[in-house]
Amino acid sequence: MRSLSTHEGVYLYSIGKSVEGKNIYSIEVDMTKGKTKNTILLTGQVHARETAGPTFILKELIDLVKAYEKGEKRAKDVLGNTRFVAVPCVNPDAHDGIGFDTKNWTYSDGTLWKANANGADINRNYAGLSWMMRAKGIEKTKYSSNSNKQIYYAGDSAGSEPETRAMMKFYQYWIGIRKAKMLIDYHQQGRISYTGKSYATESMNKRCEEMRKALYKVQKNGLLGKSYSYPEKEDEDTYKSYGRNGAGSTNTDYAWAVALGAKFSTKYGFSVYTDTKGKEYTILEVPNRDKTSYLLNPILIPTFRGFSWEIGYGKDYLGYSKDTLKLIAKEYDNYNFGEMLYAYYDLIK
Ligand SMILES: [Zn+2]
Repeated sequence: MRSLSTHEGVYLYSIGKSVEGKNIYSIEVDMTKGKTKNTILLTGQVHARETAGPTFILKELIDLVKAYEKGEKRAKDVLGNTRFVAVPCVNPDAHDGIGFDTKNWTYSDGTLWKANANGADINRNYAGLSWMMRAKGIEKTKYSSNSNKQIYYAGDSAGSEPETRAMMKFYQYWIGIRKAKMLIDYHQQGRISYTGKSYATESMNKRCEEMRKALYKVQKNGLLGKSYSYPEKEDEDTYKSYGRNGAGSTNTDYAWAVALGAKFSTKYGFSVYTDTKGKEYTILEVPNRDKTSYLLNPILIPTFRGFSWEIGYGKDYLGYSKDTLKLIAKEYDNYNFGEMLYAYYDLIK
């Protein structure tokens, strides 16, 4: 990140501190400061062991900046009209923890740690529309646990973790104020992708599905000629009730909440919809955003798109071993990730 930030038009700054006091860095690529342009957000390593995100995001950005400096037309088009703002590593304690203190960053079943240094899954902790345990009034589901020794522990309260709070401010600024059109979140779990939200509007979800098709087409131009896949069919019920079933409160959930115009409620402690008179509605009271009869606050960014990559397959792709790094490098070329920033741009230009 430091090396990339020495290039003209690239800015590196801290947006907050982790549990252990490390900086959470944001890197911004904006070649024509002051010119009106679209913003695309990129985030990675919310989950400790999912180390491919920072690598992919930084390689994509470095190659794009170098192509721009060489005067390549495509890169000039992209960076002439788009600003990329990335938080490549949302969970910086994990970088050293998984890398150099692996024993302490391993669950009792031998799998690598997913949470932050407090044992909270940052990706269950966001104070978005669907803050899980509170919204549902339950302590435990398939996607939640009530102990920081287990995965899916959502934290003591919505936004209890410093990494989550730093990211919430980041989204309030970049989506709430600067109206970013797209968020891409990089994870690692089985070569699939997630997009859209059950609680977004039909037209927003349709736009997201079109995005998935376009990005899979780009992947097919990689070395393998194949793309990632959809989540399994059995997940459909989960999808339909998503956000109401205790599975929500992820990084992308929060970004969507901001894009949908949800507001933070001091009564509930997480985001809610409000009507024009300021009356508050939790997600449980808004089963269908399209067919709701009461007047909700308007959608802030009707063209917003959120997308998550799940890079690689299985535990061999997790962590920092030499073999893992080789697998990750191959994955990048096999599935054509070198073209992705161009593809994101094509979708919103
Ligand atoms: Zn993940």
